[in-house]
Amino acid sequence: MIITPQEKLTVTYEGDEIIFGGRYNEQTFAVGEGWTQAEVLDFVVNDARIEVCADCDWVADADRESVEFASNGDVACQGCFDNAFNYASTVWLVPAHGESERFLVTDYGVYEAEYLERVDAAGIERGYVHSSGWRGYFETRVDGYTEVTAGWTTGDWGDAISERKQSFNEWAQALIEGEQECPFDVAIVFDPTSNVFSTAIGVWVDTRQAEDFDAWLNGHRDVLEEALA
Ligand SMILES: [Zn+2]
Repeated sequence: MIITPQEKLTVTYEGDEIIFGGRYNEQTFAVGEGWTQAEVLDFVVNDARIEVCADCDWVADADRESVEFASNGDVACQGCFDNAFNYASTVWLVPAHGESERFLVTDYGVYEAEYLERVDAAGIERGYVHSSGWRGYFETRVDGYTEVTAGWTTGDWGDAISERKQSFNEWAQALIEGEQECPFDVAIVFDPTSNVFSTAIGVWVDTRQAEDFDAWLNGHRDVLEEALA
């Protein structure tokens, strides 16, 4: 039995009246006591694989609709999953030898950026830090790495502030693209902020190499810090 989004269906089961129908924005599930939406739907659509989106409560028949499984076991509908990439953090892992790799971090997990395959073992983790009231910010960390400098940057908009930012942007780009030789394993983290024009930056280095990295940066550290301030 398949219930379309337009249908309404009321069943009584063990004294509970259960109403089905409406999905997403017009969610009208009345769930009997002790029943989850997924269990109720499994009861009616007894051969369906029912999953409920952890974010918007969309009830999906996983055999007919695409759903995504998050690292923490949550299920996301395709819409919420795709939308989360609008708020993704970006992590570039720049190894001392070899090609840089880009990862995207959403609320659902860490994804290798090219094919969006989930990689749970990348050692990258994002949290949300509540600062005051509703405000807060994303903070992405890399296992085994130490943050050496942090701040924020923006694109090149031609004004004085963005001009100052370009010395960091150019340095990071040269590092990522391998134009700048660097004998250390570095991670550059870009976290979105509440201001769409600015991005929080963290420069991380393999913890065992942190001191050497600092020495290697030498005078350039001031330039970077000034740019990121
Ligand atoms: Zn959803």
